[in-house]
Amino acid sequence: MSHFTIQVTPELHQYLQSVSVRETDLLKALREETAKEELARMQISPEQGQFMALLIKLLGARRTVEVGVFTGYSALCVAAALPDNGQIIACDIDEGWTNIAQRYWQQAGVAHKIDLRLAPALKTLDNLLCEGQQDQFDFAFIDADKENYQNYYERCLTLVRPGGLIAVDNVLWNGNVINPDKQDIDTCAIRTFNGQLLKDERVDISLIPIGDGLTLARKR
Ligand code: CA
Repeated sequence: MSHFTIQVTPELHQYLQSVSVRETDLLKALREETAKEELARMQISPEQGQFMALLIKLLGARRTVEVGVFTGYSALCVAAALPDNGQIIACDIDEGWTNIAQRYWQQAGVAHKIDLRLAPALKTLDNLLCEGQQDQFDFAFIDADKENYQNYYERCLTLVRPGGLIAVDNVLWNGNVINPDKQDIDTCAIRTFNGQLLKDERVDISLIPIGDGLTLARKR
């Protein structure tokens, strides 16, 4: 049966979480506060946050970029895994959500590692490139508007060093990627992005069926 990826039923998912997720009380509180928001589904799952924290440690990452902060759960996971002199350039446009994020970053004692840039992410990424920050980052997490995934990816690929990693969220898009009736801009953008990445020889890739699908692309 090992040629399959296992079907994770709700019961099995609960088990997976019960034997592997080590969520701090603060992360749990942030998840519970975010659950009240209308767009709560935009938050990554606790096992995905923990997986990303593990990646940060495996990479020995110090500098990272996050495109799409929302209420800051993923940035909190990554920041906690970074060394004390680590840095996340965190891009978002929403003041309300990132106010929640900043409150938790402060409480966790990681706010000094997170440089929040409230502006369209493409502008922030282009500014970093203009400042000559090519190959200066170890990790990038892309989790914002799907229409711009390819644009974010291209910029992050330049910003990340060889051997660095880009993680792209929602690549299975709640299963809509294989639903021919779904032809909206977001779904089409994700399909196109996935298809182009497969052919992209600049990176090694793997699509992990965690959360809503997370693709890892390692810059060659
Ligand atoms: Ca997401």
